[in-house]
Amino acid sequence: MPFQSTLQCFSLQSFPDHYRQGCELWERALESQKLPFTRLDFTLSPQDNLLCQTGWIGNLDAEAVLVVIGGTHGIEGFTGTAVQVDWMQMVANGLIALPDHTAMLMINALNPWGYANNRRCDDQGIDVNRNFIDFSQPLPINPGYEELQPLLGIRDRDARAKAIDGYCLRVGQRPYEIAFSGGQFNDPAGPFYGGQRPGFSRGVIESLIRHYSLANRYLAVVDVHTGLGPYGYGEVICDHPLGTDGLMTAIEWFGPGCGLPSTGKSSSVPKLGLLDYAWHQVMGPKSCFVTLEFGTMGTAALFDTLLDEASAWSSSECASSHSKAVVAEQMKAHFYPKDNHWREAVIFRARQVLHQALVGVS
Ligand SMILES: [Zn+2]
Repeated sequence: MPFQSTLQCFSLQSFPDHYRQGCELWERALESQKLPFTRLDFTLSPQDNLLCQTGWIGNLDAEAVLVVIGGTHGIEGFTGTAVQVDWMQMVANGLIALPDHTAMLMINALNPWGYANNRRCDDQGIDVNRNFIDFSQPLPINPGYEELQPLLGIRDRDARAKAIDGYCLRVGQRPYEIAFSGGQFNDPAGPFYGGQRPGFSRGVIESLIRHYSLANRYLAVVDVHTGLGPYGYGEVICDHPLGTDGLMTAIEWFGPGCGLPSTGKSSSVPKLGLLDYAWHQVMGPKSCFVTLEFGTMGTAALFDTLLDEASAWSSSECASSHSKAVVAEQMKAHFYPKDNHWREAVIFRARQVLHQALVGVS
């Protein structure tokens, strides 16, 4: 049966099949704007034409800004592009009105290498969303990860699963998730590696904050992710510390369903080096940063997929090109389900959350 959407003005064409197409769709949506816009690209690799595209839509002097970020985790950028393209089309068609004093900053493919290579990390193996630590201080230690690391390296899938299950049973599910995904700085080939220095994507964010003097404006930042949480549901996750203005603002704008990792009320757990922290530092009152996380196949599948991926990319040259192609498909199946109903649910929820953010910040 052909797919029929229940949503108005919804097109599956907003969902790209590959990085290059994602860039073209995004560019077309930006250029269709009736409001003035400014394009600013950041090139990672000129020979591969890998770039992060950004567009400022509306008044350059706007006191409030809705910022939408996609592709922090490379492969999750497919959905990030679709959400931005759909939203920009809504604005261009007049279905969403941008108040005079409010602008939008769209950031597509923040980690272009990961996006183009179906990976979550960047070209240095860095998880961009663990890279925002103070590198002038000693690197943070994740003791749970150090204990887990030898188990994660077990090549045989069944033996590895058994060893990890044993660890999880011993320490409990939440400490296990913090150990695994909370961020680590000592295993460059492992998942959730925060790096030894600021990476390309961090540089992009810091440049944009300076270039547009974002510290002097009201901000609503929505960073689009996929792969964690219940299938098809978009959880708004807030990592502002308890008792802060940012957290109160997030609850005011997005409601009581806001996920709070610090209290255990979220599909996510507290993490080191989040992109959030760069924005928290420059935010004044009536501003907040949230992650919009679209669930797919669940946490166990996420961890398995990332371990298979890390193993394929660290294996010897001759075996690797085949296994890299296999894990690329596995990665896409986990982070970007080819299911029209999942994609429709993403757009429905993204419109809702971006509208809440826009109304809140304006
Ligand atoms: Zn992510």
